[in-house]
Amino acid sequence: MRLYNSLSRQVEDFIPLVEGEVRMYNCGPTVYKRQHIGNFRAFIMADLLRRTLEYQGLNVTQIMNITDVGHLTEDDVVDSQGEDKLQKEAARRQMDPWEIAREEEKNFKEDLALMGIPPAHTYPRATEHIPEMIEMVEGLLAKGLAYEVDGNVYFDITQWPAYGALSGNKLENLEVGASGRVDDRTDKRHPLDFALWKRDEKHLMQWDSPWGRGFPGWHIECSAMARKYLGDTFDIHTGGPDNKFPHHECEIAQSEGCTGKKYVRHWVHCGWLEIGGRKMSKSKGKLYTVPEMLELGYTGRDLRMLMLKQHYRAPLPFDLELLDEAKKMRSKLNNFVTSELRRCADGDAHTEITDAVETTRSRFLAALQDDLNTSVAFAAILELMTTVNRLKPTTSDAELVLNFMSEIDGVFGILDPVEEAADLDADIDALIVERNQARKDRNFQRSDEIRDELQARGIELIDTAQGTEWKKI
Ligand SMILES: [Zn+2]
Repeated sequence: MRLYNSLSRQVEDFIPLVEGEVRMYNCGPTVYKRQHIGNFRAFIMADLLRRTLEYQGLNVTQIMNITDVGHLTEDDVVDSQGEDKLQKEAARRQMDPWEIAREEEKNFKEDLALMGIPPAHTYPRATEHIPEMIEMVEGLLAKGLAYEVDGNVYFDITQWPAYGALSGNKLENLEVGASGRVDDRTDKRHPLDFALWKRDEKHLMQWDSPWGRGFPGWHIECSAMARKYLGDTFDIHTGGPDNKFPHHECEIAQSEGCTGKKYVRHWVHCGWLEIGGRKMSKSKGKLYTVPEMLELGYTGRDLRMLMLKQHYRAPLPFDLELLDEAKKMRSKLNNFVTSELRRCADGDAHTEITDAVETTRSRFLAALQDDLNTSVAFAAILELMTTVNRLKPTTSDAELVLNFMSEIDGVFGILDPVEEAADLDADIDALIVERNQARKDRNFQRSDEIRDELQARGIELIDTAQGTEWKKI
């Protein structure tokens, strides 16, 4: 497989460290509020990557952290400033930060499920790995890469000349930007030195450390947890475009500084989600959450479809019209498997269809192996659908194509799950029976109501001489 590596800025061969095994770390959510759909682009990408690797027979270990302390509000500067996001939210909501963290973690996992994202193997919480972080900070102090001033521990950025390799930010350029803030942090040797441990006796979430009570820096959390679950060196680290700098840059400095080994072999970042041409995280436009999107009549899988139509690294413009298109495309695919392929006449298989399935399978795999080229993979599937429909498939063709569609959906995860589809069928059938009875009873008001209700759910009824049939609109 070929995969773009943000560190080398090139598409490279992806070769796992241990044959057949892939160890992958995904920067997870900071659980202080419900994630917006822009955040989910990185998680959908990570899921696609995992499924693509598994489709090729690799065994993937996926770790996604839960940041429940230490992430400060000004997280786009090297030496993050501002308030702890959890603590700030606790004050705003007048709630316990621990309660907020657990509630938002639960919400996050619910949203993942709605997008058809299966759980990672482990979701380590930062607050449950404080000893591992302290150990790493001690290691950095022992090596002279960090220093302590009055209970605060900082990474000494001047000791790490490679800083900036991932993001292309040169230390000299960063210094210019930071100059305005030099005065307010007099305890630091260099204005860009970033905190590994912050002394804070007033923080609502605090721990004992060799440097007094306080809490860890956000970056050291990921370094320590990735190391614990995946080892000093592992295959893939993913994140959103906003994680690249300074978060991942700082992770590299800390981890490689501490272990003396390469930290991550392949860095993978998705592109921005844009609203009105602006990066979503900075945008003043509407940052929908998943429940808000559901209220507008979309599903988590519609959003997934929208994101998979675009290459993961390209900027993705977001508006509801594009989401409508994705929704339509998804119902077309659903309709193909739940309706069109289920109404076939008996007969021999078409060799043309058998051949088309084989060709599509190789094109699909080749596209994904080419740096996750989902749009080419989609095009291959749409072409197959056209071929199949044109040839009027028999039941044996349908069986083959249905199996293939379920195989590729193991990677894309955009079709309605089978259980849901079965529930939907039973539901619709029950309403059709009720409507037929209402018509017999000349209760046209009720029969119209049922038709309208189904219409609103995207189901069209067709009355034929043989009875009532339905299809998805
Ligand atoms: Zn992280």
